[in-house]
Amino acid sequence: MLASCKPKDEKNAHAVISNQTEAIFDNLVKIRRDLHKYPELAGNEKRTAKIITKYLLDLGLEVKTGFAGQGVIGILKGESEGKNIAWRADMDAIPNDFVDDVIYKSKNKGIQHGCGHDVHVAIGLGIAEVLSKLKASIKGKIYFIFQPEEETFVGAKNIVDNRIYSDLDIDEIYALHVTALPLGQIMVKPNELYAYQKRIEIIFNETFSKEDSDILYKKIQSEILRKRDGGNPWEIPKAFDSIVGLTNPNTIFNDYLFLEENRVIEEKKNQLIIRANLYETDKSKLPYILPKIKDVINKSEFKDQFISISFIQENPTVLNDNQLTKSSVNILKTIYGNTAVVNDYGQIPYFNDDFIYFQQNTPGVYFLFGGSNSEKGINAMNHAPNFKVDEECISIGVRSFSSLILERTNKTDTILK
Ligand SMILES: [Zn+2]
Repeated sequence: MLASCKPKDEKNAHAVISNQTEAIFDNLVKIRRDLHKYPELAGNEKRTAKIITKYLLDLGLEVKTGFAGQGVIGILKGESEGKNIAWRADMDAIPNDFVDDVIYKSKNKGIQHGCGHDVHVAIGLGIAEVLSKLKASIKGKIYFIFQPEEETFVGAKNIVDNRIYSDLDIDEIYALHVTALPLGQIMVKPNELYAYQKRIEIIFNETFSKEDSDILYKKIQSEILRKRDGGNPWEIPKAFDSIVGLTNPNTIFNDYLFLEENRVIEEKKNQLIIRANLYETDKSKLPYILPKIKDVINKSEFKDQFISISFIQENPTVLNDNQLTKSSVNILKTIYGNTAVVNDYGQIPYFNDDFIYFQQNTPGVYFLFGGSNSEKGINAMNHAPNFKVDEECISIGVRSFSSLILERTNKTDTILK
């Protein structure tokens, strides 16, 4: 396991990173537990922002606040000129009320850190502290972006659209998301990390009944479905299965299209409307979806009741820069061993991250990061009722990504924006 891998040369910067990480680990756990105890929903991360701001100021960083809601950016200036690199951590919790049998369980009723953003904040602060001790080795600037409102998919866009952000002139940006991988395991792939999600709306006239919609919806689902043998991509827990999961080149989470089981039916005066989400992994196939569904409807007994079909909502999906992904994997493997990073071959449905709004302007890489530990009975399946994180991952995250950022600040390869 990654936890046991340490840099060979005790004198190098990565050994310093390891030692510094170890020294601050207990405090980072304290901070994470405090955030876990007082979680805040998207748009209301005031207390969280205050804690982050104080921490960054205490490190001696320049700090920008009061933009994009509760956005906070810490600026670490290296001692020589170079690239501008950003690390992003999201801050918000989610509206859950699950059993959480920890002593630091949420005091804010109906709100919980069920996606692990409390861990992201702790790791982000840890990287800021560790790298602030290595100022002399840093070329350029490092920005620590603490982003509110990820769960509502608006926080990143609000930051990117803000003058404070565009003035920073960032060359590269990185982030992680803790999830149900084994403790400390880093997983990444170039290009799309999640499936494309589109919400469709199909409108029929008033003679089309709910019962008709049951029959037709099933027909559409089965006719457009594309998947690999061996399983169904909508069974998310399988994403981390060693046989059909993301680490297998033949994963069922690759090259698929499906229309979700749940749909909303709205009956208006002269219409019956169906709304549902569909998931497609291949961008080039997106334009063929609506014509295909139209064709299914027109060949059915309901063709005369059909009025229209359209996409009514679509979010862009996380898109990792090819060259930067390759470089990051090389850096992490060179320092922490070949097992530190595994390839991801798939795209998970349902989940997504508004980190893509940063990536639309700046080349960036978003990593999936392991917070599970089966020996301790910890399963870091995001948003699930039993979601938990092994806090040891904070130390591995701080160490690994401090090393990555430090190495990238010193790389002279330029990435085309
Ligand atoms: Zn999340």
